[in-house]
Amino acid sequence: MVMYDYRQKLNEIGIILDKTGKQTCPQCSEKRKNKSDKCLTVSFERDAILYYCHHCGWTGSVFYEESKFHKQYNRPANFKSKENKSPLIKYFAKRGISENTLNKYNIGLGDNNTIIFPYYKNGILVNVKTRTNLGDGKKTFTQTKDSEKTFFGIDFVKDDENLIIVEGEIDVLSLAEQGINSVSVPQGGSDKKLECLSNCSNEFLEKFKTFIIATDNDEVGYNLRENLISRFPKDKCKIVKWGRYKDANEALIAGEDLHTYINNAEYVGTDGIVMFKEKWDEIYNELFGEDKNFYNTGWDNLDKIIKIKTGYLMVVSGYPSRGKSTFVDNLLVNLTKKYGFKHLIASFENTMGNYYKTIYEMYNQQPFWKLINEGKEKAFEKIMGTSDFFFISEHFILFDNNRMWNIDDICKCTELEVIKHGIKTLVIDPYNRLQNDYKDREDKYIGSILAKLCTLAKRLDILIIFVAHPKKPDGETIPTMYSISGSGDWYNMSDYGIIVHRERDNFTQKLSNNPIIHIQKVKNFSIGDPSGGKIELFYNANKRILEDIGG
Ligand SMILES: [Zn+2]
Repeated sequence: MVMYDYRQKLNEIGIILDKTGKQTCPQCSEKRKNKSDKCLTVSFERDAILYYCHHCGWTGSVFYEESKFHKQYNRPANFKSKENKSPLIKYFAKRGISENTLNKYNIGLGDNNTIIFPYYKNGILVNVKTRTNLGDGKKTFTQTKDSEKTFFGIDFVKDDENLIIVEGEIDVLSLAEQGINSVSVPQGGSDKKLECLSNCSNEFLEKFKTFIIATDNDEVGYNLRENLISRFPKDKCKIVKWGRYKDANEALIAGEDLHTYINNAEYVGTDGIVMFKEKWDEIYNELFGEDKNFYNTGWDNLDKIIKIKTGYLMVVSGYPSRGKSTFVDNLLVNLTKKYGFKHLIASFENTMGNYYKTIYEMYNQQPFWKLINEGKEKAFEKIMGTSDFFFISEHFILFDNNRMWNIDDICKCTELEVIKHGIKTLVIDPYNRLQNDYKDREDKYIGSILAKLCTLAKRLDILIIFVAHPKKPDGETIPTMYSISGSGDWYNMSDYGIIVHRERDNFTQKLSNNPIIHIQKVKNFSIGDPSGGKIELFYNANKRILEDIGG
């Protein structure tokens, strides 16, 4: 068997570059008058190398690794625009957009006066969107089928400090008219998944100091705005208010200076200081409103004690092999099943295969061995050959165990994963396997990382679950939050403090299968009952899940 090598693959198709750049095209340069024109753009992305010829439209991707799970995007060939663009220029002139701006974004005119919006990423044509009907009638849109979802205008914002996000291509053109670079989502206001964010590189997203959201001033625009807000850190996310205008284009037509609107964008959170009177809604909702803004744990008895909310830190502890990780894993599976949560997990004591198996078993409520008993082929087909594998891959994203992680790197990665994939939970399991470099006292150090995690949970609006071992077991005595090694801050700084314990039978000395979940800390009424309590869960070995007892 020949090993797959992307360099060989590149060689075969005639790509000679080893980093992003331009070269002649193996498909058309030979036949061209200007044989030395470097018409082929080659872009080395995170997952693949993309290429696109601006002359003949030859395009494709080469992956670094061979895998059947790579998304194969369809890339459009070059699009055809009419030579005479005067209807287009006339149409846009009415909307305050000049020929210069149309040329900058290479806007084209198709048959029946359709407007052509080409989407470029690193100079490569990745999508072509058309809008029919230049009149005031209904608009219809088409896009390249199965294309990579990318922000429109992304190539022009590379060196900016802020990423301004609008709802449509015409808003991008409107802002460009006044020299402001922005991008628009490719699917308009109804875009829920925001794949255009998932498809951004880390390097690209890391560059921006703020994300400025300038969607339309209507119901659809507000929904898109909320959706976008949930993906950006609060201290980096600002909102543009269009006032009496619907969008950037209306404001442009009315002769407004769009810079003013962008500069007056307000932070989603605050800039640090708040007055009660500014937070009337929030105070009202907290004190008098019915709280609907929480998630169930998936166990009725536990729901009587805690309400799961994002923005909080949950510390889970207990002696080794007493059910901590099973409880946490099961909680994650419950949140995914019921609410579609995506999790980012640092599971340092697990191997890849074992962790996948655990999640698969809980998710499908089927033990692995039973499937194996049906025959290895069949089991393989079920466990790795179905959409489950893809689904679990997308909802349980892991930190690579083959390197050490310190808390700052974890925070940085989490921020990017929230933006890119809409992660709702960060799990660190356990504390002592982090790269903990402290020069001073460990208790001070623990206080500082817990403070970092509390802040991270708030600014990204995610739930953070932090697992920590207690100091050495004190016989069979149930540990408390104060037994966690290093610091009293484990109790003081957590929002939820949970001990998972399985008791040993006095006579047989065997551990019970059923864990007892001791809720030792609930910070305030908004996340549960501050008096805490304990519940027992039943471990259903046939289904590989924890279940309520009685009730
Ligand atoms: Zn070519």
